[in-house]
Amino acid sequence: MTAIPDKTEIFHVHSFRCRHAEAVPDEAYIQKAIELGARGIWFSDHAPFPGDLFRNRMQYEELEEYLSTLADLRERFTGQIAVHIGLEAEYLPSYAKQGYYERLRDDPRVEFLLLGQHFAETEADPPEYTFSWDKERLERDEYTALGEAVVAGTLSGWFDVVAHPDRIFRRRKRWDAGMERMSGQIIDAAAAAGIPLELNMHSITQKHHYWKEFWELHPSELTVCGVDAHTVDEMVRRFHRQE
Ligand SMILES: [Zn+2]
Ligand SMILES: [Zn+2]
Repeated sequence: MTAIPDKTEIFHVHSFRCRHAEAVPDEAYIQKAIELGARGIWFSDHAPFPGDLFRNRMQYEELEEYLSTLADLRERFTGQIAVHIGLEAEYLPSYAKQGYYERLRDDPRVEFLLLGQHFAETEADPPEYTFSWDKERLERDEYTALGEAVVAGTLSGWFDVVAHPDRIFRRRKRWDAGMERMSGQIIDAAAAAGIPLELNMHSITQKHHYWKEFWELHPSELTVCGVDAHTVDEMVRRFHRQE
């Protein structure tokens, strides 16, 4: 990644392609970001995976259009705002083995990968995913599976920033020693890899998605704010919130 975005920039913006964001062209985010006086805007829509097994994201065959559209916009808006091109992806070992992250990084248009561990792959052949677990198991074990995947992804070398690390605890009600331990492992891994953790401006408004106990353990100089915008309006509101 070129440089860690600071608070004059808008980090973590999605696009209509993910199927759960506002149906506006990418340019709408860029125009508004310029109006807001932002120096940069960092797109990181949900990455598709070959085979298209996972929901809430573009299809794999749409990736080319996403990258070429943003590359054109980056060119067009040069001098007005820095448009950065990235993807938010889960770390899934079976795809790492197939060279998927390597291929993404090899594309010169991809400037950064954001590690967003919304589910995890468990060791089984064929692989299983935490989204197939029942509620009880998720409440008990999800954060461990997600946390271990975040640590592995952080140390893999493929990612530049970890998105909403404390969101792994979304199904927990109270802070406990196990969560404290997992937090320490993530924070240590990020420090070892020298990559920042994202304080997510959406998480802070959601119950159990933001944990102050987590952030008390993390040095603030390795923190980046992210708007996680799925609409232009969210981008505006959350950009103001990060100031
Ligand atoms: Zn999303
Ligand atoms: Zn995310």
